[in-house]
Amino acid sequence: LSSLPRRKFDVVVIGAGGAGMRCSLQLAQAGLSVAVLSKVFPTRSHTVAAQGGISASLGNMSEDHWQWHMYDTVKGSDWLGDQDAIEFLCREAPNAVYELEHFGMPFDRNPDGTIYQRPFGGHTSHFGEKPVQRACAAADRTGHALLHTLYQRNVASRTHFFVEWMALDLIRNDDGDVLGVTALEMETGDIYILEAKTTVLATGGAGRIWAASTNAFINTGDGLGMVARAGIPLQDMEFWQFHPTGVAGAGVLITEGVRGEGGILLNKDGERFMERYAPNLKDLAPRDFVSRSMDQEIKEGRGCGPDGNYVVLKLDHLGADVINKRLPSIREIAIRFGNVDPIKEPIPVVPTIHYQMGGIPANYHGQVLQWDAASQSNKVVNGLYAIGECAAVSVHGANRLGTNSLLDLVVFGRATGNHIVDTHLERQREHKDLAVESVTKSLDRVNALETRASGEKVQDVGNAMRIAMQQHCGVFRTLDLLNKGVAKIDEVAEQAKNIYFKDKSKVFNMARQEALEIENMIEVARATIKSASLRTESRGAHALNDHPERDDVNWLKHTLWYSNDGRV
Ligand code: FAD
Repeated sequence: LSSLPRRKFDVVVIGAGGAGMRCSLQLAQAGLSVAVLSKVFPTRSHTVAAQGGISASLGNMSEDHWQWHMYDTVKGSDWLGDQDAIEFLCREAPNAVYELEHFGMPFDRNPDGTIYQRPFGGHTSHFGEKPVQRACAAADRTGHALLHTLYQRNVASRTHFFVEWMALDLIRNDDGDVLGVTALEMETGDIYILEAKTTVLATGGAGRIWAASTNAFINTGDGLGMVARAGIPLQDMEFWQFHPTGVAGAGVLITEGVRGEGGILLNKDGERFMERYAPNLKDLAPRDFVSRSMDQEIKEGRGCGPDGNYVVLKLDHLGADVINKRLPSIREIAIRFGNVDPIKEPIPVVPTIHYQMGGIPANYHGQVLQWDAASQSNKVVNGLYAIGECAAVSVHGANRLGTNSLLDLVVFGRATGNHIVDTHLERQREHKDLAVESVTKSLDRVNALETRASGEKVQDVGNAMRIAMQQHCGVFRTLDLLNKGVAKIDEVAEQAKNIYFKDKSKVFNMARQEALEIENMIEVARATIKSASLRTESRGAHALNDHPERDDVNWLKHTLWYSNDGRV
C-alpha cells in the first residue's frame, strides 16, 4: 500500500460530462484545487451525443412560465418526482440557460436574435392545455455545443483534467466519511490513491446493461457500482426510459426534436396512430406513453417491415431546408444506420433503452444520502456528492421529460459546486487519515482479476447480462418475466465473480477496463431487475401487465436496493 502513488486535492470530480464540468467550473473559479477524472477525453463524454435541446421557460416563441414547466415535470414523473427539487430545477432553468449563452454556447437564433426553442414531448403551457416551445436548441447538436463550451471554460479556469483515468472504488472510513478514490491510470496501468476532502460522482448513465441501447460504450454505471460496493443503497432503479425512436436494428437515437419540428409516427397502414392514444399531444405525448403505444401497435400486428417489428417516423413533409438546417445529424444518422434518406423516406424506429431515472440518492445540493433504518431518516454521507444521470435527486421520478436532463446537469452541477464552496471552509482543512482497510479492499478486488488464470470470459458474461435484460426487462413487464430475469441475472452475477482476461499487460489494457466495468454493470443490472420485480404497480416507465394501474396508496414511494444481500 505504501508504494502506491498518492495525490491530494480539495475536490475530486469523477466524470467530465455536462454535470462534472459544470460543477468543476464552479469549484475552479472559487480557487479550490480540483481534479476531474474521465475515462475518455472530456469532450467525448456522452453529453456530446445529446441532440434535441435543453429546457427553460424563456417564452421566446410562445408564452411560457416556470410554473408550467414545473407542472409538466411533476406530471411527467408520474407524481414520483421530488417536488421541491423540481421547483428548484424549473425556477433556475432560465438563468442556467442564459449563463450558458454568456459562456458562449452557440444556440440557434430566432430572427429577433433570441434563443430558438422547439416543442418537445410533454411540454405544455397553461397547465397541460397546449404544446409550448421550451426546448432551447443548437440544431440537433445541443449536447455537443454545451460540452465544448463547458470544456473551454474549464480550461480557462485551470481545472486539472486526468484524461483516461478510471476511478475504481470509494475510500470510506469507519465513520462512513468518503476520503477520495482509488483510480487506474489507463495509459500506464498504475493504480493511484487520490485523496480528496470532497468527492463528486458524475459518472453518467448505465444504458449498456441492455443489448439495444442509445448509450455510448462508456456508459457502464461505474459510479453506481462504486456506491453499491461502499454500502450505500441505489434508489428507484426500476425506472428506465425507453426512447420511442431508436433506429430499428441499430439503437442509435433519433431525437424527439424531430417530432418537435413536425415529424409523425405511422403504422403499416399509414395511420398516425398517436392521434388515437393521445388526442391532445399526439406524437409529443411523454416518452413512456409513446413507447407503450408503439409497442402496442407492433404487438397488435400493425408494425411495418417484413417482420412487422417497427413503426416509421415520417419527416419528408418538413422539406429539405428544415431537415438540413434544424436536423442535419438526424439525416446523417438515418442514412448511415437506417439506410434511408429522411428527405425522401420514413425512418424505421423502435423504443430503445435510453436513460436511467434512478441512481445514487442525493438532495438538491448534490449531497449523497444514505437511509438510516434506526432513525428512519436519510443521513448525509460526509464528503460525497452525486450529480447528473448517475444521481437520483429525484427530479425525473418515474419518467423524464425530454431536454430536462441537460438542464439537470447544469442546474445541479452549479448548485453542487456552490454548496461545496460554501461549506469548504467550515469543514476540516486537512485531509483525514487514509482508510487503509477500504483501500486494501479495492486493491484486493483488482488483484483478484489480475491473478486469475482461467474462468469466465468478460465478453460472455457481458452478453449474457445484456440478453437477460433485453428479454426480461422491456417496455411492458410481467412478474413472471421479471422473476425469471432476477434468477438469470443472479446466475450471471455468480459467473462474474470468476471473470478472467488473458492479456495481463499494463499499458492501455482494455480487457482489464472491460472486466472492471462488467463488475459495475452487474450491480446496476441486479438493482434494476430486483427493484422492478418488487414494484407491484404501473408508474411512468415501469409498466407491469399484472398491475396495470398506478397505486398511490401503497406505492407513492421510492425503492432502495442494497448490494450485499440484494435486499430492496
Ligand atoms: P456523461 O456525459 O455520460 O459523462 C459521464 C462522464 O463520467 C464521462 O466523462 C466518463 O468518462 C466519466 N466516467 C464514467 N465512469 C468513470 C470512471 N469509472 N472513472 C472516471 N470517469 C468516469 N438530454 C437532454 O436533456 N436533451 C437532449 O437532447 C438529450 N439527447 C440525448 C441523446 C442521446 C443519444 C442520449 C443517449 C442521451 C440524450 N440526453 C438528452 C440525455 C443526456 O444527454 C444525458 O443524460 C447526460 O448528457 C448525462 O450527462 P452526465 O454529465 O451525467 O454524464
